[in-house]
Amino acid sequence: MSLKKWTSALLVTALMSPVSAFAQGTTQQAPGQAAKPGPVAGAAQVMPADTVLSNGVVYTVDRNRNFAEAVAIRGDKIVYVGSNEGVKKYVGSQTKVTDLQGKMVLPGFIDSHTHASKTTGLIFSIDLYDGGSIEEYVEIIQAFVAEHPDEKTLQGRGWSNPVAPGIGPLKEALDEIVPDVPLALTSDDGHSLWVNSAALELAGITKDTPNPEGGIIERDPKTGEPSGTLRESAMDLVLHKIGGYTVDQYKAGIEEYQHKAAERGVTTVRDPDMLRYPNVLEAYEELAKENKLTIRYRNAVTANPDKGPEQVAEFEKIRERNQYPLFQVNAVKIFMDGVVEGATAYLEKPYEHKHTNGELIWKTDVYNKTVAAADKAGFQLHVHSIGDASTRIVLDGFEHAEKQNGAHDARHSLVHLQLVNKEDIERFKKLGAVGIVQPFWFMQEAGYYDEIEVPYLGEERAQQEYPMKSFINQGVHMASSSDYIVTPEFNPLHGIQQGITRIEEGETDPGKIANPDERATLADMIASFTIDGAYANHVDAITGSIEVGKKADLVVLDKNLFAIPATEIKDTNVILTLVEGKEIYRLQTEKK
Ligand SMILES: [Zn+2]
Repeated sequence: MSLKKWTSALLVTALMSPVSAFAQGTTQQAPGQAAKPGPVAGAAQVMPADTVLSNGVVYTVDRNRNFAEAVAIRGDKIVYVGSNEGVKKYVGSQTKVTDLQGKMVLPGFIDSHTHASKTTGLIFSIDLYDGGSIEEYVEIIQAFVAEHPDEKTLQGRGWSNPVAPGIGPLKEALDEIVPDVPLALTSDDGHSLWVNSAALELAGITKDTPNPEGGIIERDPKTGEPSGTLRESAMDLVLHKIGGYTVDQYKAGIEEYQHKAAERGVTTVRDPDMLRYPNVLEAYEELAKENKLTIRYRNAVTANPDKGPEQVAEFEKIRERNQYPLFQVNAVKIFMDGVVEGATAYLEKPYEHKHTNGELIWKTDVYNKTVAAADKAGFQLHVHSIGDASTRIVLDGFEHAEKQNGAHDARHSLVHLQLVNKEDIERFKKLGAVGIVQPFWFMQEAGYYDEIEVPYLGEERAQQEYPMKSFINQGVHMASSSDYIVTPEFNPLHGIQQGITRIEEGETDPGKIANPDERATLADMIASFTIDGAYANHVDAITGSIEVGKKADLVVLDKNLFAIPATEIKDTNVILTLVEGKEIYRLQTEKK
């Protein structure tokens, strides 16, 4: 734009401004506040904002991590960030002004790995999250069956692995209460399936069925009969026969999720389950067309290890037809290994309790080719990797893609990162790879750490779990996420606190801090839920920090997180959530 054009544009703006026409026009004041003086005489006038938030602690998370007092929003964008004095010129007769009275403003939170669409399962199936033992699960199932006597198949979710270590829970417990209807119950981490005999029969799984590639059919050690728990890809043998929800059920689940997200200040997410389950993608596409998405999605399609690089062409079609501002599919999800609790995470050294290194779900050469093809097509890789050996192989694949396609701003990411070889942390930096971790899990969790992690991994490895600060020190972008519904309560403030303390709530013994060297600072943790999350999802040009020109995705908290102890962060309340300037949540007790 030439200087002349620029000047005239300013002039037009000034002429159009109601503030300049009615310089002393009334402005809306927060209750109990004295009327503020009008715009400073002689100051250059600008088009008034729709919304002004002033008198707050605005942590911008911009490059210099600046604080400000006020923000002005016009349409979907931030038009001013600065002082209480400076924001005054954006106040016109129609501007909605809120006096924040010292409350905190942050960029809207970004949850970089969340199974939003699985909220559907909480609505339409057996919810076991409230149970804590086989007996309690049985009671919950019985109650559900009594209310739904005509179901042809039954599904549910939320049982916990430590309740039945080793070969997992047994089919007999389910056969007693549901003998005829196939029943399949997913574990809370999503990597194991507890089934009854009717489900095994429906899927044709017998003593003679071999373990599928990348999966385990747990068996009775004496008889060799399937015992009732299926791990990883073996789950699909049953889930492909029963289970699943309709498009409408998924739409209801996603809409329910959006309410929860808004209450928690979450404004951008990545749901990795497109193509993993039928109807999920279709549900998002319909909601996008109907303009019913209220937060921003940058979702991932799940790649199938049996299909290889050929499937990327289909992914491109999906990406092409979904270019909505709030809904895009820009990543490819790959499951590289399983989980520690299923002894399926792929480790450099064997597990302590079992003669196995775990399961690598992809054949290395197929993985490398698929990664190179997806990278060439401009997709981000979003790879589930828990074991140290798995992560090494995932990085090898990124290196392979870089060699083949050249280095570019790919931002491929690894999700979970429970155990990582020290020397691989530098490779993240070199390859521009992003870590996506779940700080909600950074603790020696009762019923889990001593019962599963230490006996399965040995004390030494268990103590090195979930690095975070080592990555940050190397300059690696680290994004946080909840992995909801694996983590049922996904409030980012809980994640922020946990990333700083790395200890169970209420625990005071410093010996119970999980891998204390990896504790992050408050600034690190906020960045991981905002600007680094934006980086991880390729949306940092439009969100993730409070800067002029970015989308007005904001969250207002009732307390300044920098002024309270880390152990009180969880108790902070979200008061207001904005996405693209639109209010999607306001705490009920607050006046509009
Ligand atoms: Zn997940």
